[in-house]
Amino acid sequence: MTRQCSGITRSGGRCTHTAKGPSGFCHLHDPARASERSRSASRAGKSTGGREIRDLKKRISEVVEAVLEGSQDRGRAAVAIQGLTALRSVLELERKVREGDELEARIEELEQTREGGKRWEA
Ligand SMILES: [Zn+2]
Repeated sequence: MTRQCSGITRSGGRCTHTAKGPSGFCHLHDPARASERSRSASRAGKSTGGREIRDLKKRISEVVEAVLEGSQDRGRAAVAIQGLTALRSVLELERKVREGDELEARIEELEQTREGGKRWEA
């Protein structure tokens, strides 16, 4: 016997997925997984990413200022900037990967809504 998920979709309708496990929710609405998702989302949002970007900006401006003041060797500064640019690419990649995870969850939700729509038309 299958049970319908007790979850509510973002559009306010009843989730049409089949409940999995003892929670009574599908994989999208399982409270255990939801907290896992929001944890990773908040981690992605401000704390780590924001701090890393601020740190990166600070370091780049430090190198630039040092070169302009003449206290930094230009060759070394160029290498430092290259390293910081590479670091920026990694940060961007990380952000894209996180956005990809969120997008996947949103697509699943949309597919679910569309299935609901079809049911009403029939
Ligand atoms: Zn559900």
